[in-house]
Amino acid sequence: MNESPLEDPTLDHRPGEACGVFGVSGTDIDAARLTYFGLFALQHRGQESAGISVSDGENITVYKDLGLVAQVFNEGVLAGLPGNLAIGHTRYSTTGSNSWENSQPVFRHFGWNAIALAHNGNLTNTADLASEIGPLAATTDSELMTESIAHLMAEEGISLPDALSRALPQFEGAFTLTVMDTTTLVGVRDRYGFRPLCLGELDGNWVIASETAALDILGATFVRQIAPGEMVSILDGEITSHWPFEPAESRLCVFEFVYFARPDSILDGQTIHMARQRMGRSLAVQAPTEADIVVPVPESGIPAAQGYSDTSGIPYVDGLMKNRYVGRTFIEPAQAMRDRGVRMKLNAMRGVIEGQRVVLVDDSIVRGSTTKQLVAMVREAGATEVHLRISSPPYRWPCFYGMDTGDRSTLLAADRTVDEIAKHLGADSLVYLDLDNLLEATGRKPDMFCTACLSGNYPTEVPITDGKFLLERST
Ligand code: SF4
Repeated sequence: MNESPLEDPTLDHRPGEACGVFGVSGTDIDAARLTYFGLFALQHRGQESAGISVSDGENITVYKDLGLVAQVFNEGVLAGLPGNLAIGHTRYSTTGSNSWENSQPVFRHFGWNAIALAHNGNLTNTADLASEIGPLAATTDSELMTESIAHLMAEEGISLPDALSRALPQFEGAFTLTVMDTTTLVGVRDRYGFRPLCLGELDGNWVIASETAALDILGATFVRQIAPGEMVSILDGEITSHWPFEPAESRLCVFEFVYFARPDSILDGQTIHMARQRMGRSLAVQAPTEADIVVPVPESGIPAAQGYSDTSGIPYVDGLMKNRYVGRTFIEPAQAMRDRGVRMKLNAMRGVIEGQRVVLVDDSIVRGSTTKQLVAMVREAGATEVHLRISSPPYRWPCFYGMDTGDRSTLLAADRTVDEIAKHLGADSLVYLDLDNLLEATGRKPDMFCTACLSGNYPTEVPITDGKFLLERST
């Protein structure tokens, strides 16, 4: 799995990312084009579909399709999306299958207005909401949210921020949103703040994005993170904060630091790349290894391998070469496709590996199928020993907050000891970074994270039977 959004997205031995959301509101701007560039910077958060909705002040137009941002949009499409207000979305399906109907932004038109919504995260009370709202065309929790917000606006003639303030408290779980009607842009973070959302300013116009890298690509200035539980609305250049939720402790997903977020993004004052290097340094202290070279699994293992090498003094070597030009069309996240794709995308360099004791560094192992092939590949290239070092703890529990992990049976570490995992993967040794060390390496307060997939401590109630296709089974 690659943390870089511009590298192939399908070498994915971990769950899919959680979607990227974006919004921009201003005067005399080409909002759709700005959104296109913002989504381009958020491509790593979802490669299955991309979409933009734009308002010219009176009507909302939505354009979305399956595929990468650059495949969905071109000059002609963007030229047909005029307006000063837009939101956008890149999707990895975490509720509902990868279909056009489930791509976002979700759109609803009603008598006097229309809304569009882009969602990052997963609700945990989807079944309850679905039974209240009834069958819909699409099969996502995002559709349910849109429906209930639009219903309130249509029935009661209230503004988008007012409808959101009423509707949001009934949603449970993870939801970072950008929402718009014809005149107002809104950004929302659920009360735990599972997923990030930041606010930026571009020549007097406002930008909202999942990550700061999307501000950078536009040349926008970072203003601040939108806080857990905060909703900001922007109308006619005026920005207002609302607090529609009961207060809760921040539970930012720790995997944003481990591999979801772009390395060049800054999250709560911490540059993600540097935090990942610190994880590697910490791993070297925790697990010193007699070895000749440190080899990263590209791209995801690179910063941790750099940190490991720096601290251990073992030379860093690019021993796995990536084919940058394979994989663009392999956007189907099915396991069979992933397995076939590994050798097309990575190749071990015999010249630097042969006869060496290798420390192979990656940031996480979820299902383990890719890691197993990589260990075998490094051995075939002549490594005398392969020592796996992973810059996060064993991934033992499924995520209900926007990561597509499948159920526990798909998780390599669910019921295995570390020694059993090492044996399964064919490694001479295996060490995972301890949770305390991981949290310390983030540079952020350790008690402000969700660590449920690593610790089993879920910050909310979680559904027992809900799965990605819950609404498809029930409709
Ligand atoms: S369960 Fe894991 S992947 Fe899901 S939000 Fe929590 S830390 Fe992130």
